Amino acid sequence: MHYENTLAFARQLDEQDPLKDFRSRFLVPKYNGREAIYLCGNSLGLQPVTARENVNEILSNWQELAIEGFFIGDNPWLGLHKRLTDTLSAIVGAKSEEVTIMNSLTVNLHLLMVSFYKPAGKRFKILVEGGAFPSDQYAVASQVRFHGYDPNEAVLEIFPREGEFTLRTEDILRKINDHADELALVLFGGINYYTGQLFDMKAITDATHAAGAIAGLDLAHAAGNVILKLHDWDVDFATWCSYKYMNSGPGGISGIFVHEKHFNSPELNRFEGWWGFRQDRRFLMPPVFEPENGAAAWQLSTSPIMLLALHKASLDIFKDAGGLDTLRAKSVLLTGYLEFLINGINQEFGDDLFTIITPKNAAERGCQLSIVCKQNGKAMFNILTNQGVIGDWREPNVIRLSPVPLYNSFGQVFEVGRILTVAAAEN
Ligand SMILES: *Cc1c(COP(=O)(O)O)cnc(C)c1O
Repeated sequence: MHYENTLAFARQLDEQDPLKDFRSRFLVPKYNGREAIYLCGNSLGLQPVTARENVNEILSNWQELAIEGFFIGDNPWLGLHKRLTDTLSAIVGAKSEEVTIMNSLTVNLHLLMVSFYKPAGKRFKILVEGGAFPSDQYAVASQVRFHGYDPNEAVLEIFPREGEFTLRTEDILRKINDHADELALVLFGGINYYTGQLFDMKAITDATHAAGAIAGLDLAHAAGNVILKLHDWDVDFATWCSYKYMNSGPGGISGIFVHEKHFNSPELNRFEGWWGFRQDRRFLMPPVFEPENGAAAWQLSTSPIMLLALHKASLDIFKDAGGLDTLRAKSVLLTGYLEFLINGINQEFGDDLFTIITPKNAAERGCQLSIVCKQNGKAMFNILTNQGVIGDWREPNVIRLSPVPLYNSFGQVFEVGRILTVAAAEN
């Protein structure tokens, strides 16, 4: 795409945008009386207009039907999680029965490690990306301790090369290969939360399997953001949250993926609860567990119906938007436009005022750009905020901006470029 730094050009792209009407399906916060330019969907996606309606419907059903709400009404609560997995599984590239919706992300990481981190003999180590999201680091360290190992020995991390910000796939694959006989699990993010780097999940999964280990993914920053093919890539398990690119509300319900090849594995271990018991016989309440088919067997407790109602509001939008292909096509253009404008500012003011540490190659990133500011980063970030641009700040000097194809426009990205130019001139 040949971009231009003019409002007319941005408006023309907005005209041609097949998703331009989807913005109206979200509630956008106001800042100083004006609609904000919200580039923080990597942390908390915006509220779908129908979220409140969906929650009200649950409250009404609870009021009017009480316990019967589980069985009657337009959306009976029993099995609601199963009726959402068709849409969700398409988003993550899985078969419907490979996906279920439950708990929250860190909880699910633990439950999945219960099933899939099975250290034995020399093979007890977990490889993770260096600088993974803190919760993942705590989860992994506590899991290895639970099995009686020392995290200093059992958790391997891989960091970028000296002077580089992101990981090279070849280095990740070599690391896996070098530790092939010690690895029990490779647990990677799909996209690193700090740098915005999108990893080659298929290559990592293949190398992990060649090493004889299990491949797990944390897709917090990838689900709803980039195209995923969990089933075809042969990933063993994955989990994600729904409140970032999936717009399902703060602390929104999480999802898990378990590859179907594990469904009938005799060695499989799993923490079990009654919501994972086959639905048709659940209320006979026999003493011995009979699993639901597929990932739903990992369910433990009665579904939090309110959270599912919020999740449904967002999944309906994804469904109407025609799936990830359309979103991703716009996202590549939109983030590319922001990058183009930032590079223009660097040219205008001297080359390294802003260093985008997110990979340049669109295939190696999602919506987000992580921008290292050479000087006065916080001051420039505050200028953005004061002008109604909501991004996020990571100490010591990183601004993360994530244009989201469902609710951001090229015109908004142009405006962000204009404000950043002013900020650069003042700093
Ligand atoms: C957002 C995020 C989390 C947050 O976990 P919760 O259990 O939902 O609080 C964990 N890991 C990663 C990689 C994240 O990006």
